[in-house]
Amino acid sequence: MSDSLLRLSSLSCHFSHGREQLAAVDGVSLELAAGEVLGLVGESGSGKSTLGRLIAGLETPSSGEIVFAGQRLPPRRSARALRAQAGQLQMIFQDSYASLNPRMTIAASLAEPLQALGLSGAEVRAKVQTWLQRAGLGEAFAERYPHQLSGGQRQRVGVARAFISEPKLVICDEAVSALDVSVQAQIIQLLRDIQRDSATAMIFITHDLAVLGSLADRIAVMYLGELLELAPCRQLLERPLHPYTRQLLAAHPEPELGAPLALATRGQSSELPLALSSDVGCRFAGRCPYVQPACRRQPPWLQASQSADALVACHRLAWIEGGAKD
Ligand code: ADP
Ligand code: MG
Repeated sequence: MSDSLLRLSSLSCHFSHGREQLAAVDGVSLELAAGEVLGLVGESGSGKSTLGRLIAGLETPSSGEIVFAGQRLPPRRSARALRAQAGQLQMIFQDSYASLNPRMTIAASLAEPLQALGLSGAEVRAKVQTWLQRAGLGEAFAERYPHQLSGGQRQRVGVARAFISEPKLVICDEAVSALDVSVQAQIIQLLRDIQRDSATAMIFITHDLAVLGSLADRIAVMYLGELLELAPCRQLLERPLHPYTRQLLAAHPEPELGAPLALATRGQSSELPLALSSDVGCRFAGRCPYVQPACRRQPPWLQASQSADALVACHRLAWIEGGAKD
């Protein structure tokens, strides 16, 4: 792909867990085009945040490779390298209160990423003005402090701060998950408008498939450290192939795009087993209605669907595509 912005090759991140190795991210490969929005969905504990942190350089991979904007990124990025990359790659977190400095005014928080790029004072002031407007805040917010803002207003600041340096990639980790549904919709609309205008690529991490319908070009489904399905947004919502994706969508079998969906598995996250690097077979086998003995012996690999533009990691893909008839 000539306009490839990000390429992950067999990326893994294992943590020590007693005598075992916890596989928070296990052999993830994917490619993101410039300007593309990828939704990354899965239950709590599936490794989404760790994958985002690996790309951002906040976590060190155990193995694998990250190529970003044509450069192979070193496994360990120095504080200097992280500062240098800030003009190109930004993150938005769930808790904007924790990610904004409580003692800095909103204008100062927005100015920070620009000062790091060496812009003049006048340029910085002009951009801060512009971005307060674009984020739907207005000039009056410039001299306010984070505690004087509502959660939705703070997340608007988080969005403006992420996009103000015109990065190539913004990673949003559960950026709307803590907000009321009506405020969620406003922030998603804001992200969509800014993303389209700026053609910035985005990885939008969420446990909630419902928010992706209006936002994502493609959706990647993660389960226990692994990518199980990767497909264009509409197709994945309308015709999910992997049994896990089907379970995620099961509450609403024919969802209208953008309509609220409940995760069929929500509330079961405490039962999610740990992914260990010593696991053999498919990690989803224990919850899969279609499991066969072979599924427990060999891990599935991402394979191209025969009937759709999708990659699916399931031993039973051909059977599912054939109409699930024996
Ligand atoms: P998600 O964002 O999908 O909820 P995470 O990436 O936060 O998932 O976590 C994936 C798994 O890795 C979880 O089992 C979590 O407990 C574990 N994990 C994440 N970070 C660490 C860490 N720094 N040390 C040990 N285990 C971790
Ligand atoms: Mg997370």
